[in-house]
Amino acid sequence: MSDCLFCKIVAKEVPADVVMDTARTLAFRDVNPQAPTHVLVIPKAHHENAAALAAVDDGLADDLLTTCHAVAVQEGVAGSGYRVVLNTGPGAGQTVFHVHAHVIGGRSLAWPPG
Ligand code: AMP
Repeated sequence: MSDCLFCKIVAKEVPADVVMDTARTLAFRDVNPQAPTHVLVIPKAHHENAAALAAVDDGLADDLLTTCHAVAVQEGVAGSGYRVVLNTGPGAGQTVFHVHAHVIGGRSLAWPPG
């Protein structure tokens, strides 16, 4: 999509700190990190949200999750634990409507907090 920020990152029209690039996914650091490790993992193909991605049914959601784990291993947080978040819809806080998984780790993520 021509007006999609993350499509522009895939097309290298907008710079990003890319940490992993696979055939169908791209992982780059969030510009506003909420933890020592905060990486966004996206499918290179445009799908608006997790529901749209799941409806594709061609293994792309599997690829996304596989890349999330590979990023966690590469970032050194797979052993201590990490969180994968897919905000889906404005009410959940989704602000960029190209599905993306937040891979967050490197600090305590106990839930509920406290
Ligand atoms: P969400 O609120 O789940 O839609 O997450 C969107 C995320 O994208 C936020 O955490 C932003 O900090 C992040 N973000 C926005 N623009 C960029 C960018 N150009 N490069 C990397 N991350 C970005």
